[in-house]
Amino acid sequence: MNCIDCKKELSYLDHKKAMESYGVELCSKHKGLMDKLIRQNNTPIEAIKLYYGLKQAGVHPMLEWWDGKKSVDIAFSRVKLNIEIDMEYQMLTHEQAMNDLEETMHSFQNGFTTLRIPKSLIKHYLNETVTNILGIKEGLRANIKAI
Ligand SMILES: [Zn+2]
Repeated sequence: MNCIDCKKELSYLDHKKAMESYGVELCSKHKGLMDKLIRQNNTPIEAIKLYYGLKQAGVHPMLEWWDGKKSVDIAFSRVKLNIEIDMEYQMLTHEQAMNDLEETMHSFQNGFTTLRIPKSLIKHYLNETVTNILGIKEGLRANIKAI
C-alpha cells in the first residue's frame, strides 16, 4: 500500500489512520496536510475523496482554490470549472438554495462553471461522479478551443 499522493509506502498504522479519516490511502505527511486544510477551511471530507478520486483518474485539480473572493472546494482553473460539495438538497432552505443560485450566476458571468455535487453522490458513487466531471471538463476544454 502506497500513498496516493507521493507513492510513499505506508505503514499499517498510517494506512489505518488515513482510511479511517478519509477513506483514502495517504502517508502521515499528506494526511497531515489534509487535517490542516480541514481545520483552516472546514473542507468537507467528501471534497478530499473527490480530489483524490480525480487525481487517480489522471487529472490535476486544486483543492481549496482561492478565486479572489472565496475558497472553492475543488477547481480546474484552466477550464474555469469550480466544484462545490453540497449538503443534501432536501436539507437546503430556500434562502440557501437562492444564495447558491446567485453565486452560480455571478461566477458564470465571470466565465466560471460551477458544479454543485451532493455529498451522498461522492460517498456512494465516486467513480461515476469522477467520470462525469471528467466529461464536463473535456467539454469545457473543447469549447475554449472552439472560441
Ligand atoms: Zn504522501
